[in-house]
Amino acid sequence: MARILDGAAIAAAIKQEVAEEVRALAALGIRPGLAAVLVGSVAASEIYVRNKVRICAEVGIYSDLITRPETVTTAELLELVASLNAREEIDGILIQLPLPVQVDVKSVLDSILPAKDVDGLHPLNAGLLQAGRTALAPCTPAGVIEILKRSQIPISGRHAIVVGRSDLVGKPAAMLLLHQNATVTICHSKTRDLGAITRQADILVAAIGRAGFITPEMVKPEATLIDVGINRITERAEFDRFFAGNAKREAAFAKNGSTLVGDIHPKAFELAGAYTPVPGGVGLLTTAMLMANTVRAAKMRRGL
Ligand code: NAP
Repeated sequence: MARILDGAAIAAAIKQEVAEEVRALAALGIRPGLAAVLVGSVAASEIYVRNKVRICAEVGIYSDLITRPETVTTAELLELVASLNAREEIDGILIQLPLPVQVDVKSVLDSILPAKDVDGLHPLNAGLLQAGRTALAPCTPAGVIEILKRSQIPISGRHAIVVGRSDLVGKPAAMLLLHQNATVTICHSKTRDLGAITRQADILVAAIGRAGFITPEMVKPEATLIDVGINRITERAEFDRFFAGNAKREAAFAKNGSTLVGDIHPKAFELAGAYTPVPGGVGLLTTAMLMANTVRAAKMRRGL
């Protein structure tokens, strides 16, 4: 029976460690602070940001939630970031993505002071990550490594295959796995005979954004499956394709009219040695790692 890697328990342990660090910093008169910028009214973004602000309060981090309308311009956001860069009590700046189409996302993200870039997306931090001198690593990939390490899943010498090469997830996940001495293969939409490659994975990380894309035939039995994907399904036929006969999911689907599925088909989990469920896996680590990065940024900025 495959082992479930419990994102909730691991995230809780990380948040507890962060809260302890925050208390230790308080004794030195330091309170880490996070500014979260929410643009427009995308329902999912609102939920994510409010959740981040709530967890800041839980662990003792100061937070400032700043909202801007859907019509915001690049110049206005650049001005906002400049003011946050200058604020002493702000250690981390988070711009919730996606931003509206009229905004030049890259120039906004690039304007964040690298020392306050708690999402780890600034090119300087991406370069440091590649050079193995990680300052602030992107939260979701950092969460993937925490899950593996805290679950005592060996990484060194294992073949880790990452499907997806985004700057946010796939590339940094591959780099972090490489620094843990995995042999790493990165796959993407132009990869030929994907299944023949993924079947070689001891650790398979799926960050694709396509519901249940990795099927049982694409998985090596006993592999560790890390499912980063978060896909909301609302169609009955799609639901049946993934969860037919699953009474618990059925009840939730009937109640909410939707459910979440990862990038790995649930049937593939049955073959795995260990796997992260969706929901309840990697997603929960992202916010925990954001808290950890904010404390790290607060310490680094003060030379601690
Ligand atoms: P993204 O920027 O859209 O990147 C998707 C990647 O998947 C691309 O590199 C793409 O390849 C690859 N891909 C697409 N179709 C493919 C195919 N048929 N075969 C092989 N590779 C394929 O997405 P992302 O931001 O990395 O996010 C990926 C997933 O993770 C999404 O479901 C997202 O919701 C989820 N996510 C979760 C968290 C969390 O907290 N758990 C955080 C961030 C994202 P190309 O580069 O060739 O186009």
